[in-house]
Amino acid sequence: MRVLGIETSCDETAIAIYDTTRGLLANQIHSQTDVHACYGGVVPELAARDHVRKLPLLFRAALIEANLRRDQINAIGYTAGPGLQGALMTGAAFAKGLARALQCPALGVHHLEGHVLAPLLEEERPQFPFLAVLVSGGHTQLIAVKALGDYALLGESIDDAVGEAFDKSAKLMGLGYPGGAALSQLAQRGRRDAIRFPRPMIDRPGLDFSFSGLKTAVALAIAAGKDHADIAASFEQAVIDTLAIKIGRALEQTGYRHVVLAGGVAANRPLRLRLKEMMDERGGQVFYPPPILCTDNAAMIALVAALRLERGERDAAAGFEVRPRWPLVSLSHLSSR
Ligand code: ATP
Ligand code: MG
Ligand code: FE
Repeated sequence: MRVLGIETSCDETAIAIYDTTRGLLANQIHSQTDVHACYGGVVPELAARDHVRKLPLLFRAALIEANLRRDQINAIGYTAGPGLQGALMTGAAFAKGLARALQCPALGVHHLEGHVLAPLLEEERPQFPFLAVLVSGGHTQLIAVKALGDYALLGESIDDAVGEAFDKSAKLMGLGYPGGAALSQLAQRGRRDAIRFPRPMIDRPGLDFSFSGLKTAVALAIAAGKDHADIAASFEQAVIDTLAIKIGRALEQTGYRHVVLAGGVAANRPLRLRLKEMMDERGGQVFYPPPILCTDNAAMIALVAALRLERGERDAAAGFEVRPRWPLVSLSHLSSR
């Protein structure tokens, strides 16, 4: 089965083609960062309009990359939520229209399920059950992934997401938007122990996070005239320490030995190295997709659609209904195990 994946939940337009026997055949991504950079954040209306412009172009490019004709597509998976309503609707409409033309099924996919299962696109795959550490621009969650479609939320951020903390801190240092990767780059030149930033909520039981205080601490350090590279390095270290402590606790609580690092912040190199060390010590294993599959992409959406279609699932949504707010754990109630 060859599945076309469509992703338009935020500010990346992406189309991919996943073949259930041959693997990923095309992975087209267009990032809108240039459209939104001057506003310092994503402007929903502009995002939707740009998706509309780019979807047909990316579809053509994906077919060329995969060397396929359009009638060789057997199914379509599109991101149905969570995300920006208007942006999601452009992808849903494109998917439904194309499905009608090709006379094939279209299935709405949960964006975060895509992030969490993205490592299954790789040759070396995690085994169920595993702990998913979802660290993206909008989410910071520890999820027990028991099986396909069976997820339990163990902990999450009560305020800012990790990626958001990176981006806001980067903005304060004038590194542009979204500045997470740029901040990490700057951190390479700084001293990780220069400033003692808080490790929020580690003295409290439970697996929840809070990152908004860290951003405030960064603002104070900037005001105090500290070196920006030192601030970046110390900030990154504080985030990594905090995540590592809670991940350790989650592993003890569940007894799981496999960890999946997912979402855009999973592209962060020092975080990857730290988790690798940690899992080596514990005799477990950490899995992370290559950076291009960590940030928003359609390959992960095509994969989830393929897995669910193979189980015989079909889309219940008749029109272009999308779900801007849609908790991942709600999928567990639907799963037909
Ligand atoms: P969500 O998936 O929760 O809806 P999103 O789709 O906006 O959010 P992603 O595309 O998964 O998020 O990830 C983007 C985030 O990842 C941004 O906050 C960005 O700054 C961050 N990021 C990307 N690369 C790095 C890096 N090397 N270090 C730290 N943060 C990074
Ligand atoms: Mg994005
Ligand atoms: Fe995402």
